[in-house]
Amino acid sequence: SRVLSSSNFLLLCTLSGGGVVAYSESQTGAERPSLQANEPSKKKVVVLGTGWAATSFLKDLDASLYDVQVVSPRNYFAFTPLLPSVTCGTVEARSIVEPVRNIIKKRKGEINFWEAECIKIDSSNKKVFCRSNIDNLVGSGEFSLDYDFLVVAVGAQVNTFNTPGVKENCHFLKDVEDAQRIRLSVIDCFEKAVLPSITDQEQRSILHFVVVGGGPTGVEFAAELHDYVLEDLIKLYPTVKDKVKITVIQSGDHILNMFDERISSFAEQKFTRDGIEVQTGCRVIGVDDKVITMKEKSTGEVCSVPHGLVVWSTGISTLPVIRDFMKEIGQDDITAVFEAADKDKSGTLTIEEFQEVMDDIVLRYPQVEHYLKQKHLRDFSTLWKDLQGNESKEIGIEAFKLALCHADSQVKSLPATAQVAAQQGAYLARCFNHMDHAEEHPEGPRRFSGSGRHKFLPFRYRHLGQFAPLGGEQTAAELPGDWVSMGHSTQWLWYSVYASKQVSWRTRVLVVSDWTRRFIFGRDSSRV
Ligand code: FAD
Repeated sequence: SRVLSSSNFLLLCTLSGGGVVAYSESQTGAERPSLQANEPSKKKVVVLGTGWAATSFLKDLDASLYDVQVVSPRNYFAFTPLLPSVTCGTVEARSIVEPVRNIIKKRKGEINFWEAECIKIDSSNKKVFCRSNIDNLVGSGEFSLDYDFLVVAVGAQVNTFNTPGVKENCHFLKDVEDAQRIRLSVIDCFEKAVLPSITDQEQRSILHFVVVGGGPTGVEFAAELHDYVLEDLIKLYPTVKDKVKITVIQSGDHILNMFDERISSFAEQKFTRDGIEVQTGCRVIGVDDKVITMKEKSTGEVCSVPHGLVVWSTGISTLPVIRDFMKEIGQDDITAVFEAADKDKSGTLTIEEFQEVMDDIVLRYPQVEHYLKQKHLRDFSTLWKDLQGNESKEIGIEAFKLALCHADSQVKSLPATAQVAAQQGAYLARCFNHMDHAEEHPEGPRRFSGSGRHKFLPFRYRHLGQFAPLGGEQTAAELPGDWVSMGHSTQWLWYSVYASKQVSWRTRVLVVSDWTRRFIFGRDSSRV
């Protein structure tokens, strides 16, 4: 699931020839709907999604070379790193979205956009089936599109780990609509708490805000909410100011544990100073409309606490449509390969078995071969020797798995961030722009000469650092070269980077003016 839960992985696979970008010389399948009347000679590219990866792909693609169609249930791009700011009205929802039609109209060639959701991918017939969810449609709103290349950039869905009551009673923070819902619910809680019929104990329950998940999203939301309460809400609701409580529940030992240790402990200390309770080592086992139940991992003790609002932010998982598709094209998981390796119960593999499994892996994940070559393991027998450390005829399965995991992690475990998605989108666009050249030179770039399987150099991720806003005009940042920066000055760096990364001048101006408005007038807490 580690592999499949990364939305970015799918896009990367497209480059590895793994099948997410499918290609066929002869157009198969049924006729296209009447809305597709573009030049037949151009290869058809269908792009699923209008998020980070898809938008970056569309911005960099030479669209005059292809017949491009974009399908997404959202007709806009959302700048997700500012979603936590939308939950508290620091930034307005409309300031962080850009209509996708604004983005595509600037491209050279013609790009069509259909507001619909892909419900099925038929890779054997190179067809996607879509359904529009627009209200009051005439007809079923269902249609299909043929493709020569399919770019899957649909992101991921929230992972509830099948915890009872989460879907029904928790808020998620994935989309703009989620952020708007949270904003209204926070205000609702305060309005409810000050009603004359509410007891003191009930006020404390209603104003208990729980964030499940101590990753960047959960931490940023908790920090935003704390600022909102402190800077705006307690001035409007002074009678309940001592009854507000924010709790972050984290199953690991620390919050922000994917960041440098210094950032993680800085965040914990800051939260303690701010009165945000951090409960580590706790797993939530159930949520109902009034109570959240959790289990302490070390002692097994179960406790329940009342809540007014729960935001669930524990990670992501693969969308069902993509899970089905991955199964269909046989890219389900590298663990399947481990299972194949495990079939030898003696715990060893012969060189022939090793070769067989390795061939299978390279077929599925060509980047593994690139990785091995980079490490000067030019062929599998060299790797074999390297793993064995001797010339014997067998290799320990554990050592083999370890090596594969290592190669696998080099290949796929990129963080599921906007930064990775955007770089992958841009990389994919460059590949598409050079497709003709690559087809004329099937031997591939010199580094791959010999195998001839690769059309392009594999994707290389360039990490430009990451931020963790902690509230009170303080941010922590992990910068390239293992630099760590924390505090007020880093907050200004955060403002500059996020302003510069906006997808258009329109959103840039709107975001900066929202920040200015907040500085001068505070946040708006009307329930509209
Ligand atoms: P998305 O951006 O999620 O886009 C998916 C697209 O696919 C959407 O347009 C969606 O409508 C569409 N889609 C969904 N289902 C279908 C379907 N069936 N058919 C067709 N289209 C479909 N990353 C950072 O680097 N820095 C941050 O500070 C940061 N902060 C974040 C804060 C929050 C609150 C959240 C939720 C995420 C944050 N991220 C951050 C992560 C970042 O947003 C994701 O990694 C990134 O959005 C992934 O890009 P994507 O293109 O794969 O998917």
